Formats: sequence, C-alpha cells, structure tokens
Amino acid sequence: MSTGSPSSRRSSLPLRARLATTVGGAAGRASRLAGRGDGSVIGGVIGLRLKPDLLSLLARGRQIVLVTGTNGKTTTTRLITAALGALGQQVASNAFGANMEAGLVAALARAPDATMAVLEVDEKYMPAMLEATGARVVTLLNLSRDQMDRAAEIWLLARRWRAALAAAGCRVIANADDPLVAWAAGRARQVTWVAAGQRWHDDSWCCPNCGSHLRRDGEDWYCGECPNRRPPVSWVLAGDEVIDPTGRSRPLDLVLPGRANRSNAVIALAAADVFGVGVTQALGALQQVRSVAGRYTQVQRRGCDLRLLLAKNPAGWLEALDILTPAPVPVLLAVNAQVPDGRDTSWLWDVDYRRLRGRPVFVTGERRIDLAVRLEADEVAFRLAGTVDEAVDLAHSQSMDVIANYTAFQQIRAVLGRTV
Ligand SMILES: [Zn+2]
Repeated sequence: MSTGSPSSRRSSLPLRARLATTVGGAAGRASRLAGRGDGSVIGGVIGLRLKPDLLSLLARGRQIVLVTGTNGKTTTTRLITAALGALGQQVASNAFGANMEAGLVAALARAPDATMAVLEVDEKYMPAMLEATGARVVTLLNLSRDQMDRAAEIWLLARRWRAALAAAGCRVIANADDPLVAWAAGRARQVTWVAAGQRWHDDSWCCPNCGSHLRRDGEDWYCGECPNRRPPVSWVLAGDEVIDPTGRSRPLDLVLPGRANRSNAVIALAAADVFGVGVTQALGALQQVRSVAGRYTQVQRRGCDLRLLLAKNPAGWLEALDILTPAPVPVLLAVNAQVPDGRDTSWLWDVDYRRLRGRPVFVTGERRIDLAVRLEADEVAFRLAGTVDEAVDLAHSQSMDVIANYTAFQQIRAVLGRTV
C-alpha cells in the first residue's frame, strides 16, 4: 500500500500522466465555467485520450472502495465517503455519479493527496475498473433490470462479476438477500455478507447457479435442485435498526428516508468497518447526510416545498413510492425516455401505481402520455402538466413530492437551479 507520501504522488506520476491530469483538469474547469455540468467527465475523457492507463496510475498507492449495483450506488458512495471521513483523512469520490472510467479518473485527479477513494462504478464496467484500480473493497448492492432493452444482460453481468471477483484479492461486501449478487460474490476470497433486504424479487426467481426455481421462506432463499442458498450473514438490517457482527443492535436514525437508504447505510457500515471505523463513529457520520446529488432535497418553488426523488427503473419506482409523504400531499411524476433512461417505456407496466389512488397526482415529462395510459389502467386519477411550475400552480399545496426518472430528474434540477 505504500508508494510514497500522498503529496509526492502527483510528482511521482510519469510525465505523460502528469500532463494528462493537468490538461484534463483544465478542460474540466473550462467546462464548468462554460456552465456545462460539473466538468468531471470531460476532463477525464481528455486525460484518458492522452494516457490510456491513467486510471491505474492515479489509483496506485491508494485504498479504494468500488460501489456497484443497479440501485443505490450514488447514495451508498456518499454514505461510505462520509463514514470514512470520520478517520480525518481526505477521501476522493465521484460524488455526482459520473461512474464510468472518465468519471473515476476525474475524481482521483481532483484529489491527488487523498489516500482513500470511494468510487461509484457502473455495473457493466466493474470488472475492468476493479482490475485497473486494484480496489481493496468492492460493495455489491443489488442487481435487477435497469431498462427493458437491457433485460437479458443481468445474468451475463452476474457471471462477469463472479469471474472478476474470484480472480481479485479484494474484500467483497455483498447483499446476501439478492440471489444474483450472492452468486456473483460466491467465489470471492473474502466476503462480508449483509442482510440488506430485497424489495424487488422479479428478477431473481431462478437459481443463478442451475436455472431451477428459487424457493423463498421468509428472509431465507434456497435452490431446491443445487446447494446454492442464502449465505450466513454478519450484518443485518432489521427494521430501523442495524445489528452488527457482535450481535449489538442500534437504531439507524438517518435523515435520508426509506428502507432502501437504511439498506445502503448498513452496507456502508460494513464497508467502513473494513477500514477500522467503528459502528458508533460511522453511524454519527451517516446521520449527517441529508441529501445526495440533489436527491431527497427540499426546494421552494412558487410557495410550494418540493421534495425530489429519483427513480430510474422498476425497483427504484417501488422504493420511491414507499417513501412518499402520506396523502393528501400531491405527487408529481415525470418520465422521459431518452437514451440514459432507456428508449422503451414498457417498464412502466411493471410498477404497481394503485397506492397513488385517492391523492392528487400530476404527470409530466416527455413521455407523460405513456405514463397517463398506465395510470388509467390502474384507475389512478391524475392531471397532465407541461412543466413543474404548471403542476405547482395546479396543486395549490404547501408541499409536493416529485418522482422523476433519470433525464427528467436532471431537467427538473436544471429548472430549479443547480444549487439543488
Ligand atoms: Zn440451483
């Protein structure tokens, strides 16, 4: 783990790598000044073009945590970063979800003195990023369908994770309640199993090992045809409490809402434990996290308190519907179908919207008509709105929850201002 002091890391980089980070950093700053996002990706792209192995060079000598899974990556990355911050050292992180190679490069280049880094990684890139960074810890949250047009890929992905983790020497923190994740981590040399729960079962009815039907018995799951079963866990999310490996139970008391975030928090505690951060200390840090890259933020708009929730896929919509403020607080739903969202909106039919009955519902976004048809089928009354402001005016309410998918969320943030 030692390749010189942190301050000498930058000067110890080969000349071309130093040039690549300098030019990449300048491009990132220029992009920020031009108002084009936070500039993190463009800087990384340019740096990598000049020096294709820049990520390995920047990762060298640092202790790195990779965070991956279909849902909760950005939040869990933020929580682990907060927990490791309790050690009093600088922690590098791609806090705004730029989770492919260029985003990782930018995050490390921005913090040359950080000895630790917590990096969110896109599911598909995890094996390559693990190899490039030599990460000490990999956390696997869950694995489910992200977009209809990628449906068949999760099995292939689980297989790639399994091979990569078997080959690497890292510690894996894995959600034992997700059978695909458990299988993917099943050959890793060191695994910390966490009972983090699984709300979305639709993508894991079959045994990843043999293809037979998986049986479920309460929290337990097992295959009737092969030895594949839920591994014994050392960390448990039990309601609103965490049970640590010694069996001690503590209330989580998070500001971030919902079961999904409690699950992310328990994974974060298990990851922090690897670095010697005790549960009490780590928990104190997690309780300070109030919003994550604009999510869960409250914003005032035309006299109405808006609470922003991001939901990128069916599992994410279920989680968001779970944490809505109780009726009669109105809800605005916003759906787009640009490339990052998936072009196909048929996933809308996988989500049960009936719990929205009996409260004011507004529908916006580029694909609001698709969503409207879906709500009709679930007999949920709604009104169409061209914009967030129009919905706010129609609602005449002091507060409103907003659930949006990826690009719809970004558009709403842009309208409400980047401070969100
Ligand atoms: Zn089986």
